[in-house]
Amino acid sequence: MDELTPRVTLNDGNEMPQLGFGVWQVGNDEAVNAVGTALDAGYRSIDTAAMYGNEEGVGRAIRESGVPRDKVFVTTKLWNTDHPRTKEAFEESRSRLGLEYVDLYLIHWPTPKQDRYVDAWRAMSELQKQGVIRSIGVSNFTVANLQRIIDETGVVPTVNQIELHPWLPQEELRAFHAEHGIVTEAWSPLGQGKGLLESPELNQIAQKHGRTPAQVVLRWHLDLGIVAIPKSVTPSRIRENLDVFGFELDFEDMEAIAKLNSSRRLGGDPETANYGYA
Ligand code: NAD
Repeated sequence: MDELTPRVTLNDGNEMPQLGFGVWQVGNDEAVNAVGTALDAGYRSIDTAAMYGNEEGVGRAIRESGVPRDKVFVTTKLWNTDHPRTKEAFEESRSRLGLEYVDLYLIHWPTPKQDRYVDAWRAMSELQKQGVIRSIGVSNFTVANLQRIIDETGVVPTVNQIELHPWLPQEELRAFHAEHGIVTEAWSPLGQGKGLLESPELNQIAQKHGRTPAQVVLRWHLDLGIVAIPKSVTPSRIRENLDVFGFELDFEDMEAIAKLNSSRRLGGDPETANYGYA
């Protein structure tokens, strides 16, 4: 099946699909199956990371899928302990993936205690000039982290991948992104499944549209212009999470979802998370 999802244009002129497939906590072998199912279902964007330990499986699934390389958008990430050796770490990721180039390379976390993310950003910028990375971006960056790399290098990230779901809509960061032409990408877009998807408000909206709560949440991301990368290893859910294009949320639905904001984080707080350095 060909591409089903709309694309967003990045500030470097490249495009990426607005809906992709995440593979955190998926083992190498499981990743071969899950990514294979996702590509077969029509996903054309895969989000992995060196830290997930499944780049080999992701690369294998892409090669075996029969989908041409230039039709798949592949993201991987620089792990925290590798900030001082960015170029070597990228080369290791590229070799595990078995790809000539990566579409998007992200600094996984700023790790403020280490304070090496500006050096990492400069190294990524050089790799991009060599053509082995098409676009460069960051993940879990705060407004202060973003402002600093822009001020010190003049290079604006294409994307900031952050925890974002109806419990944590990240309005302040989204406003900063909009001002600077940075695309907002949501990790844990479904709030990791449990709890959020059981909320009565989402279930009511889902019932009204004859959809599932997961589909309602993904539609909400897309309507806000956010890139989302839901994860599942269950084939029916992998397909369900891509089937979000035949309906629209109305103003009332959006208002009801806005009320779910509880500033509730499910993952680490980038201000204090120093994984690898704690
Ligand atoms: P998610 O919000 O995508 O939720 C995934 C979980 O929700 C699944 O494990 C499953 O239990 C459930 N689920 C999925 N589809 C469902 C459906 N249709 N109905 C009911 N339940 C469903 O959470 P995530 O995996 O944490 O985030 C998605 C991706 O974001 C990750 O796989 C990874 O690629 C990325 N991520 C990045 C960072 C980062 O620091 N940059 C951190 C976490 C995740």
